[in-house]
Amino acid sequence: MAQIYGNKSRLDDLLARELNYSDSYDAKMFETYLTKEQVETMNQVFKERKGDFDGYYEFRKTRMNLSPLKPYDLALQLLENPDKKYGYEETLSNIFASYAAMDPAFQDIFVKTTTSGSMDVYPNPEGGKQPGGYCQDMCALQRPALIFMNYKGLMQDQKTLTHEMGHAINFYLMGNNVDYLYCYGREYEMEIPSTFNEELFVDYALKNYDQDTALAILAESVSDYDNYFTFQPMITEFENKAHELCRQKTNVSGSDLNLLWTNLSKDYRSGLVDYYPENSAQWTYISHIYLTNNYYTFSYALSKAVTLSLFKMYKEDPEKFNENYMAYLSAGSSMTPPQKLWKFFGIEIDRKLFEDAMDVVHMRVLQLQELEAKRLASSA
Ligand SMILES: [Zn+2]
Repeated sequence: MAQIYGNKSRLDDLLARELNYSDSYDAKMFETYLTKEQVETMNQVFKERKGDFDGYYEFRKTRMNLSPLKPYDLALQLLENPDKKYGYEETLSNIFASYAAMDPAFQDIFVKTTTSGSMDVYPNPEGGKQPGGYCQDMCALQRPALIFMNYKGLMQDQKTLTHEMGHAINFYLMGNNVDYLYCYGREYEMEIPSTFNEELFVDYALKNYDQDTALAILAESVSDYDNYFTFQPMITEFENKAHELCRQKTNVSGSDLNLLWTNLSKDYRSGLVDYYPENSAQWTYISHIYLTNNYYTFSYALSKAVTLSLFKMYKEDPEKFNENYMAYLSAGSSMTPPQKLWKFFGIEIDRKLFEDAMDVVHMRVLQLQELEAKRLASSA
């Protein structure tokens, strides 16, 4: 694996240099309108504030009555009744209701999308339908986007629906506001509307669902933040340092890379989880490291950070936010990503944005603790 990685990383850099970049990281930064300093600041804030997740780990520990908490314990589901089913119509009305405080266009586009034969809802493996969820834009036709789902009625499927609907709303707005050629965005921009909708869903669940379900949804969303803000940026940092190592040393070994991975993970991970003492070869499991473009995963972190910083703004002043958000979602690539954020929200991709995102994490962890305290009080 180390040899494959070494060869790949040297080829990546060679290709980038042929195109006059200093290396492939430099090329990626140019392509995404970012600087290395911005990504470094992001990683720095996440490392500094990893303690904001402690309340979540404490919650898991007491909820599952486990000490110590092992990495695999984090994957256990928390619902008392995990097989509870939500009918498709019920999910549609829940998601529709979760957009109540958004611009009316949200509910309009939702209705257009769900009533125009644009949704392929249920699984059909015999018919060749692939698993997962996906949204295909129809910008050129200025019609609602197509949504593919494998709706089984589980709690998770509700989140998938609103996630894909976020893409659909974004595509519809771009398709009807800018020329087809501008109906796209950078990787990290595309996931903003979908993950923003997930936040609306969490808020809706907190207000409308039973305690057990709301707790599970909330815990899952904190676990998502944890993945986005510790694991994904760490992968990029690993790739960057591994490329450097492969430039300095011709025969980089598996144990060199395991050591690099493990040392980095110590900067990002919580002290409340009892990780294995050995150096980890987990990097070999990350298919993005081998099979997609380099430096792909920091986009997930950045995207989620922008989403949460926007969500913080939304909570502070929904009306003002809505006006700007509609314009933001409609602009497509008629402006660069930083220009758009600055023009519609007056924000830059800097320390404040990442601190704001972590403030939302902090808020969610407090909500989790409050709800758990209520549950314990009511069951006592
Ligand atoms: Zn998505």
